[in-house]
Amino acid sequence: MEKILSLQETDRWIAAEKAGGRRIGFTCGSFDLLHAGHVEYLARARQLCDRLMVAVNSDASVSRYKNPLRPIVPERERMYVVAGLAAVDVVTLMEDDRPLSLLLRWKPDLYIKGGDYSEGALRSAEAVREYGGKTDIIRSSFSTSSSKIVERIELLAAHAAPDAAIRQDTGGLILLDRDGTLIRDVPFLHDPEKVEILPGVIEGLLKLQASGLRLAIVTNQQGIGLGYYSAQDFIAVNQRLLRELGARGIRISRIYFCPHSLGEQCSCRKPATGMVFRAMRDFGVSPEQTCLIGDSDDDMKAAADAGCRSVRAGEGMFGPAAEQILNSRIC
Ligand SMILES: [Zn+2]
Repeated sequence: MEKILSLQETDRWIAAEKAGGRRIGFTCGSFDLLHAGHVEYLARARQLCDRLMVAVNSDASVSRYKNPLRPIVPERERMYVVAGLAAVDVVTLMEDDRPLSLLLRWKPDLYIKGGDYSEGALRSAEAVREYGGKTDIIRSSFSTSSSKIVERIELLAAHAAPDAAIRQDTGGLILLDRDGTLIRDVPFLHDPEKVEILPGVIEGLLKLQASGLRLAIVTNQQGIGLGYYSAQDFIAVNQRLLRELGARGIRISRIYFCPHSLGEQCSCRKPATGMVFRAMRDFGVSPEQTCLIGDSDDDMKAAADAGCRSVRAGEGMFGPAAEQILNSRIC
């Protein structure tokens, strides 16, 4: 889209607009899930100037200042959506968390921001005043926000969708290790293409689910903590796995993961019991109603220390493990 400019292209655009005597407005943000508040804000910002430029936070900066799991929408797509609004004249990418360096680079007549003056915004406003610009605050009349939308989705996800195929009466919970148990163990797996469901897993999960047991994953992901791959990579791998299981009618209710490295000594990394206890609390089940299927000593120890049962299922052993659970009524 021609409204999306690189920093250098923006330099030239600004110079031309300023030469034409037009008043430039600048604003920035992540615009992760575009909503009415954003649209109103940008429309009102445009009324304050002749040309409105929007710097969209890069994916890396959103991860840094908001939440390592955000943004939901990648930067190229967020820029594309913002550029589609009539109020917006130019869109560019902002790699820094804060707009200060871009403000000093372009010296727009107007620095426009939403909400309140935070400490960082005050510092930017000071810099804008020093070069002769002005700062304006626009408060939205909508109470919506991207975070509220995410919360609403989480709330919906927390309400189990009615599913006639799954009996809820036994209420047991099966905790599943991921790598080496459900899928082939690839060291520091981060490529969805390398997801390979192990033999017997589909059939075993279908039987467990049909007997009324709910399924959740508990997985150590030290590679995130060590920086070998990102939380986003981890999610992409899970998405692939959930899609393949979903196509066979299998529903994984939740994925618990430990993103920490061994050195961080957290309470969630198996053999610690953090994830197991959290799952039991979330699902409202007792240790007697819970069984962990895994392939390592750490899995077995986490289950034992939490008071749960466990069954070992290495490669090709998932079917027998599922049978063992069903026959012995472990859960
Ligand atoms: Zn942890």
